[in-house]
Amino acid sequence: MVDIAEQSILTHLKSSGRLPTPKGVALEVINLTQREDVSNQDIVRLIGADPALSARVIRAANVLLANASRPVVTITDAVTVLGARALRQLVLGIALIADYRHGPCKQFDYQHFWTHSLLTGIAARHLAAHARLAAAEEVFVLGLLSNIGQLALSTVHHKEYGELLTQTKGKAVEELLKLEHDRFGCDQAELGEAMLADMHFPKIYQMIARHFRQPETAKVTEGSRDWRLLHLLHLAALIADVCLASPAERGKLVTKIRRQAASVAIEVAELIEIGDACAVDWLDWLALMNMGAAHMPSFVELLTQQPDAIAPEVEVPQWPHADQDNYKMRVLVVEHDLNMLDLFKSMLVAAGHSVQTARDGVEALKVIAQQQPQVVISDWLMPQMDGIALCKKLRENYDQRNMYIIILTAQRSSDKLIEAFEAGADDCMIKPLTQKIFFARLRAAQRVVQLQEELAFDREQLLRFSKELAASNEHLQRLALTDALTELPNRRFAMERLEQEWALSERGGRNLTCMMVDIDHFKSINDKFGHQAGDDALKAVAHTLRQSARTQDVVCRYGGEEFLIICPEADIDAAYQGAERLRLNVAALKLKNQGVSIKLTISIGVAEKKAGVTSIDDLLNRADECLYAAKAGGRNQTVSEK
Ligand code: GH3
Ligand code: MG
Ligand code: MG
Repeated sequence: MVDIAEQSILTHLKSSGRLPTPKGVALEVINLTQREDVSNQDIVRLIGADPALSARVIRAANVLLANASRPVVTITDAVTVLGARALRQLVLGIALIADYRHGPCKQFDYQHFWTHSLLTGIAARHLAAHARLAAAEEVFVLGLLSNIGQLALSTVHHKEYGELLTQTKGKAVEELLKLEHDRFGCDQAELGEAMLADMHFPKIYQMIARHFRQPETAKVTEGSRDWRLLHLLHLAALIADVCLASPAERGKLVTKIRRQAASVAIEVAELIEIGDACAVDWLDWLALMNMGAAHMPSFVELLTQQPDAIAPEVEVPQWPHADQDNYKMRVLVVEHDLNMLDLFKSMLVAAGHSVQTARDGVEALKVIAQQQPQVVISDWLMPQMDGIALCKKLRENYDQRNMYIIILTAQRSSDKLIEAFEAGADDCMIKPLTQKIFFARLRAAQRVVQLQEELAFDREQLLRFSKELAASNEHLQRLALTDALTELPNRRFAMERLEQEWALSERGGRNLTCMMVDIDHFKSINDKFGHQAGDDALKAVAHTLRQSARTQDVVCRYGGEEFLIICPEADIDAAYQGAERLRLNVAALKLKNQGVSIKLTISIGVAEKKAGVTSIDDLLNRADECLYAAKAGGRNQTVSEK
């Protein structure tokens, strides 16, 4: 908004009589078109009074309406086709260029000023037409007059302004604006806004004249129509900058243009088309205004360079949560347009994420296989494989079901959104994408990815715990079934195993025999050599039994110095043979304690599961009875059932 101070400065400047204003017929046209009761004939008559102005207006209308079905031949045509408002603005622009081509400020390059303004107007017109935003003819005049405040300052305060220009040569425009403000009470942006207000331009144009140099300073809703027009004008001014810049300065400007174009969803190919259209208009306008030719760079050459090769010092957007401890993500951007790709990359890097890029779905799949990104941001329309096909493909894969997928689309229709979500997208972003919205959406992605990552971590922990638990259970189980001293299976194990073997024998009719083994006079070993020597002797006997038995025999410690040996698939004779081998091997053991040799023998009772043996207990009792018989028979012997 134009404030009181600016108004009073403007009033003061106006009263000085030096403020750039149209004169003569042009002024009358402007005053006339402001009235409500004006007829087109009145305007035609008035413009007709100035043949030079008439000629320019007709030619200008033809350039602006290049695509009209028939050319504008008369002022009447021009008024009809353009309408009174656009015509009024056009007359204003033309009159100002004609009258202020030269000026009193020696350091101010009027030629350069108008060249830049014309280029801004031409670019703004094509950009607005492309975006179907506003009456393109009016946007042309807005571009043309967007910098009118500077013309005014240099004209009114020509001496001081000249000094100021010398002082700020080569410095950033912000510095010049600040000094203007200090010296004259208002800067060119504020004055431009006030002048457009005074010339009855729409409010939005006044705001744009004030803020188009630094669009982020304007208070407009991101993504709104005003916001887009403001950003288009900023882009138009950048295009004018690059056209007039030296080749050395162009790299940085091209990067700015790419970012700015991407932020209003204009792709490289479209930008090249717009650049070409500008070049054509440019020659027409130069002729129309009798201005010296200036070489315009080729947009194809400028824009087909790889963005990576372009000046990296262009400032990156600020991540609003930079001070917070951010969760860093691996993000893949899939986008065919290099401008968009570069913009996304710069925003994501600014937010601290690691970024991979791909130009289409096929390339994306390769990158995903190697890098496993957590977030995929993919454009919809791409050659080879589009975003929807990519999304479906990723959702088919179990490993990628957690990947957060964002689909970009230029279409707002709910059908498109539904199609994207049905393909498996987590979010949909509509282009043009403003930085604020992008960062907000990214925060949502961050929350989900972080949550999933935490869940996956918890799941892994749980899995590890349960594995450990299983291992320790198994260990405990083994402990529970193993005798600690001899490391042989214990009595509990023996009984469980005997039950299994009993069942197998019942079912398959196979033999089952068991031996009951008892060490002879073991008490005296303890008594003579001590308990430790007794333990050692027990271990030695256990070891010998295990070594001497058949592999399929199960040797268990049954009690103190008693062992039970389960012999599957052995008949009574084979078992007797086996028992004798055990007995002889134990008797042959050479044990020593403190130099004194210990002699050990065992007695064995052997019993077979045969007809009449009704239970495990029965079988064991029979083996016990045989053992008792062996003891009674003098020990160190095997007794088996007949
Ligand atoms: P017999 O020939 O009649 O079997 O005589 P024995 O002395 O072996 O029989 P008895 O049942 O009287 O004694 C068994 C002894 O075995 C008693 C006990 O002190 C000893 N013993 C049992 N378990 C262990 C053990 O784990 N370590 C040690 N050192 N001695 C044990
Ligand atoms: Mg005993
Ligand atoms: Mg004994």
